[in-house]
Amino acid sequence: MADAEINCSNARLEPFEDGIGLRVGAIFILLVSSGAMTLFPIVTRRVARFAVPAAVFDFAKFFGSGVIIATAFIHLLAPGVEALSSPCLNENFQNYPFAFAFAMITMFLTFIVELLAFRIGAAKAASLAYDPHTGGHHHAAEHGNLARVVSTGAVPHTLVEKNVSDSDEALVKVPLSAAASEILGVAILEFGVIFHSVIIGITLGTIGDRSSFVTLFVVIIFHQMFEGLGLGSRLALLPLGPGSAIPFLGAVAYSLVTPIGLAIGLGVRHTYNEDSAKASYVTGTFDSASAGILLYTGLVELLAHEFIFNEKMRTDPLGKVLVHVCTMLLGAGIMALLGRWA
Ligand SMILES: [Zn+2]
Repeated sequence: MADAEINCSNARLEPFEDGIGLRVGAIFILLVSSGAMTLFPIVTRRVARFAVPAAVFDFAKFFGSGVIIATAFIHLLAPGVEALSSPCLNENFQNYPFAFAFAMITMFLTFIVELLAFRIGAAKAASLAYDPHTGGHHHAAEHGNLARVVSTGAVPHTLVEKNVSDSDEALVKVPLSAAASEILGVAILEFGVIFHSVIIGITLGTIGDRSSFVTLFVVIIFHQMFEGLGLGSRLALLPLGPGSAIPFLGAVAYSLVTPIGLAIGLGVRHTYNEDSAKASYVTGTFDSASAGILLYTGLVELLAHEFIFNEKMRTDPLGKVLVHVCTMLLGAGIMALLGRWA
């Protein structure tokens, strides 16, 4: 412990060395830049006039998958471990890897919530199939590697239309149960990325030194744009009706959190010290918990489901799949690099 002394109290030592104008301007720049990138996949998907080639959309989607996985490891788990092993915390935290334990717990919780949502969705779809008003029938079918209850034919309202993952315009029918768990999966993803986005905003708002502020500000602009692209392309593919406002609301909520965090950081800059015990408990716990959520979502939903269990991907030529894999690695690599600063 011969390192530089750590200030564990709540009081900050570092005063602001310049005016507040740049920091207030940063709030709006972050709002616009991350909003534009998050809305890009949603708008190009929804509005025919702004349609982009399928390859562009696929690039955004798989790049985004890599970003999300790198976010889990580099931007959430690593700082979670660091915060929860801070010498400011009580000794139980020095003697047990709580960050990993919290990540493991939320990973299992995410799995259980999805499992239950899938079963409840399946049961609901089956019961709707027996609804006397629809006069429908139902049968169970094998769906890929997973046995899923699929309601078909006479019960159109139990089915939703969903664009297939490879971005051609073909529409496939997805059973309600799968739709429910997919919507839930994106909601979980959204919550997973939101906490880190608030924290980096607060951190940015409390930096006193001007050049450190500018460096971190530039990094965070890209940080939020890449993560927004990842989230936006998932929101764009949600199996919702064409008029649904949910993808837009999800994009706007995500775009607002870092500017709000920055505003909070500016407000509390004289009293907030990110090394204090209180801040370490809170950010360490939330970072680790979010890491578990994003690890599950990234590895199961975005890797296993889309690359291995996805029918379309299994029949695509290997070269095309490898391009998607490289796109994903590029996203993960760039986001991992940004972890050097934020
Ligand atoms: Zn980060």
